[in-house]
Amino acid sequence: MKFIDLEAQYRQIKEPLDAALAELFVRQDFILGKDVDILEARLAEYVGVRHCITCSNGTDALSMPLMLLKYGEGDAVFVPSFTFFSTAEVVAQRGAVPVLVDCDPDTFNMDPVKLEEAVCRVLKEGRLTPRMVIPVDLFGLCADYEAICSIARRYGLLVMEDGAQGFGAVYRGKLACSWGDAATTSFFPAKPLGCYGDGGAIFTNNDEWAQQLRSIRVHGKGKNKYENNRLGLNARLDTMQAAVLNWKLDIFPRELEARNQAAEWYNELLADLVQKPRIPADCTSVWAQYTLLLPEGIDRAALMAGLKEAGIPTMVYYERPLHLQRALAGLGYQRGDFPVSEFCADHALSLPMHPYLSREDCCFVAEQLNRLLEDML
Ligand SMILES: *Cc1c(COP(=O)(O)O)cnc(C)c1O
Repeated sequence: MKFIDLEAQYRQIKEPLDAALAELFVRQDFILGKDVDILEARLAEYVGVRHCITCSNGTDALSMPLMLLKYGEGDAVFVPSFTFFSTAEVVAQRGAVPVLVDCDPDTFNMDPVKLEEAVCRVLKEGRLTPRMVIPVDLFGLCADYEAICSIARRYGLLVMEDGAQGFGAVYRGKLACSWGDAATTSFFPAKPLGCYGDGGAIFTNNDEWAQQLRSIRVHGKGKNKYENNRLGLNARLDTMQAAVLNWKLDIFPRELEARNQAAEWYNELLADLVQKPRIPADCTSVWAQYTLLLPEGIDRAALMAGLKEAGIPTMVYYERPLHLQRALAGLGYQRGDFPVSEFCADHALSLPMHPYLSREDCCFVAEQLNRLLEDML
């Protein structure tokens, strides 16, 4: 059994995809070619925003709006303490300060109450100016945007959605990557909508930002790339990756249904010994990960070894919350500062999740996990 089965997915699109790539090799518009234009139009329409600017990866997608806003020294950007490193890395990379916020134990996402506390603390200290919050759609579930956006409005913060894991998810009738002032996603192969290498995108309804982001994407270009109006990056999405994504987008709705079916089977078949993912009533997850919390007193490494022996790969997302990462030691956080993140880091376990799992697969995973847990408790 595979943790993510990209080969099974390739079999679904092999013929048209191979043909599209062969056509591209003849057409040779390798840089910002036809497939990129088509993809950007389709993604913007799918999400329901005016502009989609594709780019090199999900990390640059987060970086570019920060460059556009010229964030740097003295600026505070609020990010969850339980997420992939990128979300905070891009902020620190600009010279601004990532202010970490603990997560909610039910959803793993940024806790809005703790966000407001953090904003108030920064204001009271008076050292930094609160500028932006970057909520993450962790494991495929949207953050609590209504609560977060209302706090952001109250304190004059911008909101940038890190939808790297959430593309396709729905929160209160509105799709992921349509929240906030800008939103980003990643097409890293393991994400719900992944390409065959690196890729990313930014979404916004702001016409001026869209134009500036297209400039930043190509060395801060003006009328052409030999007229440079600002410092930028070389952060284009590869045309080959756009061709791959155009075919994957065709099967994406079907894949989302299959992911949800697999999650339902897990929910049904796993014993209540574990805390299964909790999805708020008005949300749909895209199940970037199916992550559960193990009960106290379980040796997670031994459990994973037992599952591996049975042929079941599992992963831990994330073993180390951001405040305990050495690269961010300069922020001055300590163990104990974000107890929920620490609890999640110690107890989380992600099961195989992809659209090509059968009921038998899920049944086997659940049986083995239930059996091992019973033996260990
Ligand atoms: C994957 C991921 C990113 C970074 O995307 P890349 O394409 O790998 O640069 C950023 N944020 C989150 C939450 C992610 O999961």
